[in-house]
Amino acid sequence: MADPNPRQCLILFGPPGSGKGTQAKFLNQSLGWAHISTGDMLRAHLAAGDALGQEIAAVMQSGALVSDQTVNRMVEERIKEPDCEKGFILDGYPRTVSQAKLLSELLAAQRIPAVVIHLKVDYNVIISRIAGRRQCLTCGALYSVTSNAPTISEVCDYDGSKLIVREDDRPEVVERRLKAYEEQTEPVLAYFKQAGFTVEEIQGDDASPQVIARRIEKSIQEVSV
Ligand code: AMP
Repeated sequence: MADPNPRQCLILFGPPGSGKGTQAKFLNQSLGWAHISTGDMLRAHLAAGDALGQEIAAVMQSGALVSDQTVNRMVEERIKEPDCEKGFILDGYPRTVSQAKLLSELLAAQRIPAVVIHLKVDYNVIISRIAGRRQCLTCGALYSVTSNAPTISEVCDYDGSKLIVREDDRPEVVERRLKAYEEQTEPVLAYFKQAGFTVEEIQGDDASPQVIARRIEKSIQEVSV
């Protein structure tokens, strides 16, 4: 009998600057699965200045992680939305073992198969990528001043908005974010392996983003999520 729940989950895992957001956008186009970025969702609350935005502002600006309870609740609600019917791509979640445990329970309860893509990127590449990163706050497009520059410097190709440097991409905050990754997020990989998730290792710094996206698609097909 066909599985009554055809939803699938792709977890993009890797440090800040490893290309999770860029890859999620490509895969959203090619697979038609919803792109769920907890960072984007939190930034939307910051921009709206709502109660949650005010609550998380200081933590986010410092480069530390927002509470597990807050992000778990957000993700739990988000995956119920209709655009997740076919599948969803998690970008920046889970980031702690406790988040991974909750996700694991959610997936098991709803019998949603998942694959973890671990994007491996050299530390020096991460630092230079973050330094060159620009984002359009209107449409979310991502640019790199070195490898994917907009046609007009600092202006979005799609809607002409002025591009921004994310507050937390400033050097003093990046150090804190990388520390949070090492201490709180890296252990999630061991958890995934021990909990029986399929973990695919993908080199994320030796080819164009398009080529890396194809590598990911191929490995998903091979493990037939
Ligand atoms: P990102 O855009 O994924 O790099 O996330 C930007 C910031 O949002 C992080 O530095 C955290 O402050 C917060 N954040 C995003 N996702 C999570 C998460 N899963 N758990 C806790 N904090 C998060």
